[in-house]
Amino acid sequence: MAEIIDGKQVAQDVIAIVTNSSAELKAKGVVPGLAVVMVGEDPASQVYVASKSRKAKECGFHSVQHTLPAETSQGMLLALIAELNADPAIHGILVQLPLPDRIDSGAVIQAIAPDKDVDGFHFINVGKLGTGETATAFVPCTPAGSLLLIERVRGRDLSGLNAVVVGRSNIVGKPMANLLLAANCTVTIAHSRTKDLRALCRTADILVAAVGRPEMVKGDWIKDGATVVDVGINRVPAPEKGDGKSRLVGDVDYKHAAERAGAITPVPGGVGPMTIAMLMANTLVSACRMARIEPPKF
Ligand code: NDP
Repeated sequence: MAEIIDGKQVAQDVIAIVTNSSAELKAKGVVPGLAVVMVGEDPASQVYVASKSRKAKECGFHSVQHTLPAETSQGMLLALIAELNADPAIHGILVQLPLPDRIDSGAVIQAIAPDKDVDGFHFINVGKLGTGETATAFVPCTPAGSLLLIERVRGRDLSGLNAVVVGRSNIVGKPMANLLLAANCTVTIAHSRTKDLRALCRTADILVAAVGRPEMVKGDWIKDGATVVDVGINRVPAPEKGDGKSRLVGDVDYKHAAERAGAITPVPGGVGPMTIAMLMANTLVSACRMARIEPPKF
């Protein structure tokens, strides 16, 4: 049976480093500041934003939340971003997606100052990651957290390992592939047009699934001893728990994959907790960079 990679524990370890470093920074007169901006009242976004703001406070950060009404214009949102870009108390700016259709999300993201772009979505940060400038880039939180989980099992140098990333989104798949490449893996990115995905997945020493399709990756797609990271979060009906009940599953058929994998992340409790932890880590790193203090290693 596979080793279960405990994302809650690794996330707690990251938060402990962030909290300690944040206290050290405070003693030097620097308080890391995170601004989270949301537009409208999407219930899922409200939950995410509240938990990000709460976690920032727990880390000792200056935590600011801007909840703008659904009818906010793009101009008003851009004006707020400009204000936050210029505010020396703010080191990280996060705009919760999705934004209302009227607003051009791309334009808003590109308006965030790259050195405060703790989500790592600005073209400058995407370019830095793509060219291996990871020392000064902000890396998107979910793939950054996924890499930490892989490193717990395989160490930091992944030389010679075959990695397959299923999914090519800008938020997860592509940055994940770049991180694995920087760690010396031989990387293949698969997507909806890939032929014989099963055979490809069976070549993977490291398999990352970021698809958004419940339990699509089957047990017999897994190479013996592989490290499997399941980024997917899918809510499916769970009639066994009662009428109208649901449960969360990943993109991997966990039960059967765990019989072949060397190590695997569960859903929930795998990649999920890492995303917020890495947002805190990125904000702390931003504050360190602005204060010209060496940031901690995660
Ligand atoms: P996207 O929908 O943006 O991308 C999905 C990718 O999967 C696409 O590249 C798509 O290919 C590919 N895909 C879809 N169907 C297939 C198929 N049948 N075979 C092979 N590839 C396929 O999703 P995200 O990257 O944003 O998210 C992926 C999953 O990760 C979701 O479940 C999401 O909820 C979860 N997630 C979890 C986070 C966390 O904190 N744990 C954070 C972010 C996301 P194509 O490009 O060809 O369409």
